Amino acid sequence: MDWDQLLIEAARHLQEYLRINTVNPPGNEVEGAKFFKKIFDSESIPSQLFEPSPGRGSLLATLKGNGKKKPILLLNHMDVVPVEKEHWTVDPFEGIIQDGYLYGRGALDDKSMGIIEMMALLILKRGRIPLERDIFFLATADEETGGGWGVQWAMENISSLGESEYALNEGGYIILNEAGSADRYEISPGQKVVFQLQLKAKGTSGHASMPNPDNPNVKLIHALEAVTKWETPYNVLPMVKEFFQKMAPKQPPEERKYFEDIEKGLGDPSFSKRFTSNLIYNAMVRDTISLTILQGGSKINVIPSESNAALDCRLIPGSSKENFLKEIKKRLGDEIEVEGKMEGKSVQPSSLNTEFFEAIQKFASKNDPDCPVAPLLLPGATDSRFLRERGITTYDFCPFRLSEKEVMRVHGHDERISLENLRFGMKMLVEIIKKVAT
Ligand SMILES: [Zn+2]
Repeated sequence: MDWDQLLIEAARHLQEYLRINTVNPPGNEVEGAKFFKKIFDSESIPSQLFEPSPGRGSLLATLKGNGKKKPILLLNHMDVVPVEKEHWTVDPFEGIIQDGYLYGRGALDDKSMGIIEMMALLILKRGRIPLERDIFFLATADEETGGGWGVQWAMENISSLGESEYALNEGGYIILNEAGSADRYEISPGQKVVFQLQLKAKGTSGHASMPNPDNPNVKLIHALEAVTKWETPYNVLPMVKEFFQKMAPKQPPEERKYFEDIEKGLGDPSFSKRFTSNLIYNAMVRDTISLTILQGGSKINVIPSESNAALDCRLIPGSSKENFLKEIKKRLGDEIEVEGKMEGKSVQPSSLNTEFFEAIQKFASKNDPDCPVAPLLLPGATDSRFLRERGITTYDFCPFRLSEKEVMRVHGHDERISLENLRFGMKMLVEIIKKVAT
């Protein structure tokens, strides 16, 4: 395999892809879908373009196997978030290469993933690798604003996708330490469940010069104080327990015993205080509540008749929404109206006991001995929820090696990916597919 040549090819494709503006809204992902279609056509890999709404295209390409085993789905999204151009040192839509990095909106999230997944199909096809499974490549629209025109539409309307046994999607990375070597492989088999609530307080309006005891703003802030102070109970899933067990050897000696059995460790008040000051750790072990919108009044000398707030809550999969809501209402009191705004399905994380996960683990132990493969419970939401709810074992993992600082460029300024990562990503992906599909 001439990886140098493949890297040149992949970088050229990614440059061209980054030049296609797919900022969502409006998305216009159909241009990205056409870009992929042209390449798959020229390699004689069958593909189909879907456009459920004008401009909102998705592309499915299929590399056929002998059908002995069920398909693998390689998922990526084509839309990107907007840019604040004035904060970039290069044009975010020019695909500029500088000092070994390719810059552009989508360079990490998620266009590089699309390119290495496409390259994997090309490499397997050119190498005439006999496959026991079909390999699906699905580039979708609309991930950044909920997936309605993208993966959700695709899962509801393209029946073959539901036959997939495994799926790989964006999410975790190989996180590098300060010395530049691999600290951990973060693979996410599951995510928190979105549960958003709209709150309303009603009261009596009037002139601000005569304060009244029925001011909705005052009622709302008192109620919110109680809710935001609530320390939700710990709820540690087995995969989360495993994550911290694997992270234990990396902790200072006096902390290790707590990480080895995090459920027990959290029983120690001083440890749990230290532990939950890490925002991601905190989100992995309990339901969380963020007060995100607060609206009341529009004129300084008028007491309004109504004020509103919104809570963005993220629940541990399997956590009871009914109980959670009951606890919220108890703290808000009777005077606050509560209404559900958006509610995700509670989907259990995918199993770690699979040949796909084992293939990742094998790769990791060969490539980065002693580096843990840690199953991260993602605090946020990815498209994978639509796959897991159909029973597809889905792992969120981009095979790229990034420092925590580089990861911060996702949705940020000067988003970029190193060319070395493109090479590594292609190699790792091809090796894993070969393990699981041949
Ligand atoms: Zn993304």
